[in-house]
Amino acid sequence: MDCIFCKIIDGSIPSYKIYEDEKVLAFLDINPDYCGHTLVVPKKHYQDINDIPNDLLIYIFDVARKISNILIDKLHCDGISYTQNNGSIQEVKHFHLHIKPYYKGERNLSVEEVYNKINA
Ligand code: 5GP
Ligand code: ZN
Repeated sequence: MDCIFCKIIDGSIPSYKIYEDEKVLAFLDINPDYCGHTLVVPKKHYQDINDIPNDLLIYIFDVARKISNILIDKLHCDGISYTQNNGSIQEVKHFHLHIKPYYKGERNLSVEEVYNKINA
């Protein structure tokens, strides 16, 4: 299957990983809406909200909550929203949850600078 997120999971495409366990991987979005924009993906390929099992969905949100606390701690964001696209507005057909931090002020850092801040 020609899936870009499966390739990130198997390591054949590089990514800025910020969390990994046996079920999920989280990495920084290559084209972020905001600093620290993160994607949480199941390691097994599921297409969308209709495809993914309920227990894994809950697990992904649990991981997203932990990552959000890291983003608050390291990036000092003021708010966070979660987005999950399906159908024609879903660009990558491998289920993913967007974690999008928001800032009251201007925050312009490259993906690499954000990665270094998170890992500092
Ligand atoms: P969607 O519209 O499918 O919910 O969003 C897909 C997201 O994946 C977009 O925000 C896009 O920037 C991100 N993305 C697409 N290709 C890559 C990639 O190769 N690496 C990373 N890190 N993010 C990607
Ligand atoms: Zn995939």
